[in-house]
Amino acid sequence: MSRALVLNATYEPLCVVPSRRAVVLVLDQKADLLHDTGESLHSEKLTVAVPSVVRLRQFVKVPYRRRAPLNRRGIFARDGHACQYCGGAAESIDHVIPRSRGGRHEWDNVVAACRPCNVRKRDRLLAETSMALRLRPAAPRELTWVTVAVGEVPTLWEPYLHPASLSA
Ligand SMILES: [Zn+2]
Repeated sequence: MSRALVLNATYEPLCVVPSRRAVVLVLDQKADLLHDTGESLHSEKLTVAVPSVVRLRQFVKVPYRRRAPLNRRGIFARDGHACQYCGGAAESIDHVIPRSRGGRHEWDNVVAACRPCNVRKRDRLLAETSMALRLRPAAPRELTWVTVAVGEVPTLWEPYLHPASLSA
């Protein structure tokens, strides 16, 4: 099912919703259509463009800084689906400091890993192996939740996610 990016009245990305939900926002005049997907939805009475990006007419106050949830999908998105030890295709999650050695389940202690690397590392600390991390893991940038929500970010959305790149 296609999804739409919802922007605040200030053009700040707010959330990702199913396209049907975005259609309702536009029909209710709560949001304006900025980009459509080129497809349309048909009902008995009308045909509407499937939204890709909509902007709310009323500013919504965001009460908290949204953090990407720590889960498999989020970790894979942050690490580009690449094993952080060898660069191969990741299939599992590795705790850098093993849980059995007191390692925590936090962004800075989890990495995507391929199965051979995971098996090779076992319950050892990195210092006890000849393995090395390609990057030090950290909490993802603020807007990673968008990537996590859709898997792959549509090109149309890019300018809204990285406004700094426009002025550069
Ligand atoms: Zn690997």
